[in-house]
Amino acid sequence: MSLNDALTAYAQGNHAQAYRLAQAVTEAEPNNENAWVLLLTLAETDAEKAEIAERILQINPQNPAALQYQVKHGQRDLSKDAKVYEMLWDCEFCASPKLLGKTHRFCPHCGAPQAADKRYFPEEEDKIAVQDHQYFGADKLCPACGTANSGQADFCQQCGSPLDGSKQVEQRGDQLRASGESDFRALDEPAEDKKAGGKKGCSWIVLAVFALIIGSILVVMLWTKEASAVLEAHQWTRIINVERYGPQSDSEWCDSLPRNAYNVDRKEEVRSHRQVPDGEKCDTRRVDQGDGTYVERQECHMVYRKEPVYDTRCYFTVDRWAYARKLETKAADKKPYWPKLDLVREGTCNGCERAGERNESYVLHFSLHNGKENTPFTCEVPFEQWDRAQVNSKWKLEVGVLMGEARCDSLQLQ
Ligand SMILES: [Zn+2]
Ligand SMILES: [Zn+2]
Repeated sequence: MSLNDALTAYAQGNHAQAYRLAQAVTEAEPNNENAWVLLLTLAETDAEKAEIAERILQINPQNPAALQYQVKHGQRDLSKDAKVYEMLWDCEFCASPKLLGKTHRFCPHCGAPQAADKRYFPEEEDKIAVQDHQYFGADKLCPACGTANSGQADFCQQCGSPLDGSKQVEQRGDQLRASGESDFRALDEPAEDKKAGGKKGCSWIVLAVFALIIGSILVVMLWTKEASAVLEAHQWTRIINVERYGPQSDSEWCDSLPRNAYNVDRKEEVRSHRQVPDGEKCDTRRVDQGDGTYVERQECHMVYRKEPVYDTRCYFTVDRWAYARKLETKAADKKPYWPKLDLVREGTCNGCERAGERNESYVLHFSLHNGKENTPFTCEVPFEQWDRAQVNSKWKLEVGVLMGEARCDSLQLQ
C-alpha cells in the first residue's frame, strides 16, 4: 500500500480503489500532502472536499490544489492571493496610448472620457500594479451618455442620469500564460490561428478520403448479382496433430513459475508502468474585472510522469506436451477417412506421443457460368452440405459485381 499504488489505480480509472488506497496512506502518514491532494480530487461531497482542503493547507499553506479549490468555492478571497493591475486604453481623440483603466477615467491630455469597451491587457513591461484595490463589481454604462461609472455609483458622474438598470461594461476574455511560455494568449482564440485553420482544412480532406475508401469497400462488399454455377468435384482434408512430451523453453514472471521448471534463468524486466508525481505546473491567468483592473493569479496542478516498474522474469525449461507433427489425409473424392495414428511411444515419458487436435475441411469445386466464360471457384462448406452435394448439380449464388468473387454463404441448390 503506497501512494504510487493509489495513483496507478487513479490513472487506470479505478477511482474507488484509488480513494481507498489514498485514505489508507493518509492514515499511516497523516502529513502525506500528495495523498491528501489525491483524496481532494476523489472525494464526492463538497463537505468532505472542504475539510480535506483545510487539512492540506495545514500541512502546506501554499498548496495550489487546495488554494484553487477554496477560491473556486468562494472560501477564499481572490484578491488576497492574486495581484491586481491596471487595464490599459488608448485615447481615441488625441491618440495618447496606454492610459490606465482605473486611474485615468478621463484622458489626462485632452479630457475625453475613457472608452471602457476598448480596454486591453498590457504587455508584461507595461504592467502597473494597483495597491489595496477595492472591488465593487464591473463598471456600469450610463444608459444616457454611455460613460463607464464605478460599480458603486448611483448616478452618472458625467451627465447625472440615474444608473439603475444600466448594463455592465463588456469584459475581455481571460488570458492564460502556460507554464514555461513567455506570452499570454486569449483563451477564446486558438493558439496559432493560421496553423489551426490549415490543419482543419487538412483533416477535412483526410476525412473525405477516408469516407471514400469506406464507401468503395462497402460497394465492393455489398454490390452483388445472382449467378449460376455447376458443381465439378469434391475435396476433403483431415488432420490429426501429434503432440510430444519433452523439454520446452518458456518464460513467465517468477511469481508464477511452474513447479516443474528447471534450468531457470532470471532477468529484471519492465513489467508495468506507474504514474509518479513530477512536480507542479503553474499557468498564469489574467481576468478582466470590468472596473479598469484585472487580476493575475497562478493556477497550479500536479503533473505526473510514467515510470517503469521492474520485476523478475524467469526463463526456464519445463517438460510438457507440445505440438510435434501432423498426420494428414486428403483426396478429391467423397470418401473421407482419418489418418492412421502411428504414435512413437504412448504414456508420459520424454519422447512419448499423443493425439492432439483434429481438423477437417470439406471443399466443393464449382465452375461459374459468367456469360461466355466459365470461371472456377471453391467453397469450404459444412460436412453435411458437402456430403449431400451431387457432381453436376446446378447452384445459384451471389457474386460481387466489381471483383466477380463468389459469396459461398449464398450458395443454394437450384
Ligand atoms: Zn486624449
Ligand atoms: Zn451619463
